Amino acid sequence: MLKDKVAIITGGTRGIGLETVKVFKENHAEVVLFGSKEESVAKAIETLKAENIMVEGYYPDLNNPEEVKDTIKKVYDKYGHIDILVNNAGISAKESIDNTSYEDFTKIMDININAMFNVTKEVIPYMKQKGGVILNTSSMVSIYGQPSGIGYPTSKFAVNGFTKSLSRELAPFNIRVNAVAPGITKTDMVASLPEEMIAPLVKTIPLGRIGEPRDIANAFLFLASDLASYITGVVLSVDGAARS
Ligand code: NAD
Repeated sequence: MLKDKVAIITGGTRGIGLETVKVFKENHAEVVLFGSKEESVAKAIETLKAENIMVEGYYPDLNNPEEVKDTIKKVYDKYGHIDILVNNAGISAKESIDNTSYEDFTKIMDININAMFNVTKEVIPYMKQKGGVILNTSSMVSIYGQPSGIGYPTSKFAVNGFTKSLSRELAPFNIRVNAVAPGITKTDMVASLPEEMIAPLVKTIPLGRIGEPRDIANAFLFLASDLASYITGVVLSVDGAARS
């Protein structure tokens, strides 16, 4: 489904991002993953190599415009085009507002929003040459909010606003911009929770299970592919109909 496409996936070293790297590779894209640190990028590349999946990875500081610009140019110079960007890197929060400092709040905005802006801005000139697809990882909490960790849902509401607005700005260039809003998904963080915490959560999900990273990666695959060529500006919920 992605033959001859070149994709950059941020937060590609584990969880949803790593699974998206695998699914895109299975569908014949060239994939470049971005991670936060040299070690985590090296580890992801090794893990993939063990499964016969070859990718390259970089670890630019996503909040440093020059570093991001240089890294994206490197990708362009090597492959000659950049067709897909998945802005997936993100951090969450769970503290009450009383226990959230200005720095805590700002840190979430930096990675969940400002980094997304930064990477997107740098790929757009390349995508304007022949069209492209920008995909953002939102969250179920971008629709319903959550009762603590205020920075996280706030940032994901912003992801949706960014997605919808940019889809309108970039449509004349045949650049589609969409987001996927996962419900609770079994990444490292969730997998480490004890069964007694998971069971009540599952009860609130009509489809009766927590999402797998592949559920989310498949949604990215669809939106990245030409099957979605008339879809832009959507936030696609992939949450088993969870509504809280
Ligand atoms: P994860 O913690 O397993 O992965 C997060 C990724 O983001 C990692 O690859 C990490 O390297 C990267 N990252 C974190 N901070 C970074 C930084 N400062 N610079 C560069 N990269 C950084 O989590 P995940 O569950 O796979 O989350 C991926 C995305 O999915 C996030 O945007 C998250 O908000 C979203 N999401 C997750 C769930 C869930 O239940 N797991 C639900 C809804 C949305």
